[in-house]
Amino acid sequence: MRQKKIKEATIENILELGVWIEPKSLPYKDQDIFMEIGSGKGQFITSLAKANPNRQFVAVEKEQNVCYRLAQKRAEMQLDNLIVIMDDAENLKEYFSEAKASVIQLNFSDPWPKARHHKRRLTYMTKLELYKTLLAKDGKVILRTDHLDLFNDSMEYFVEANYVIINSDLNLPESEFMTEYEVKKRKNGPIYQLEAIVKND
Ligand code: SAH
Repeated sequence: MRQKKIKEATIENILELGVWIEPKSLPYKDQDIFMEIGSGKGQFITSLAKANPNRQFVAVEKEQNVCYRLAQKRAEMQLDNLIVIMDDAENLKEYFSEAKASVIQLNFSDPWPKARHHKRRLTYMTKLELYKTLLAKDGKVILRTDHLDLFNDSMEYFVEANYVIINSDLNLPESEFMTEYEVKKRKNGPIYQLEAIVKND
C-alpha cells in the first residue's frame, strides 16, 4: 500500500502507540492467534478485533507510514486484544516461538505480476513453508484478492507446498469485515478468496 510520508509517523510515536518493532516472543501459549499479514491501515483487523474481544489478534505491516495509521486506529478503538508488529513477514518465526496461529489471513497482498518478482509474493512457496511453522494444528491460511493471476498462481503454490485447499470462492459476498482495498476493488469486479490447511500425512 503506497502512502505519503506522514510527518508524525516517527519511530518514537510508533513506539508510543505500543507497536512492536523488533522480534519478541508472543506469549499466548494457550490461545490461538488470528494474524493478518500486510494489514495496511487496518480497517479489517481492527473491526474484527473489536467484534471479538476475547480473541487475540496480531497485525503485521512493514511500511512505517501505513503502520502508523494502523497503530492510531488500534489506540483510538482501545483494542487491548490486538498486537501490531512493524516488521517483514520474513521475520515472523522469532515472534512465534511459543504462540501458534489458527488463522493467517492475507488481504489484497501485492500481486507482483512480473515473473521475476513472484518469489516476493506472500503466498509464494517459501512463505507457505514459513507459515507452516507458525500455524496451530488445523490452522488455515486465507487469501483474499481481486487479482485473478495471483489467486490462480497461489492455488498452485499451496498444492506445491503440501497444503489442501478447503474453500475457494470466485465471487466472495460482501461482509462486515472488509479492508480498505476490498471496499475500493469491489466497484471493479469480483473478489476471490481461498482457504487452505496443511496436509496431514
Ligand atoms: N490488507 C490491506 C493492504 C493491502 S496492500 C488492504 O487490503 O487494504 C499490501 C500491504 O502488505 C502493504 O501495506 C504492504 O506494505 C504490506 N506488505 C507487503 N509485503 C509485506 C511483508 N513481507 N511483510 C509485512 N507487510 C507486507
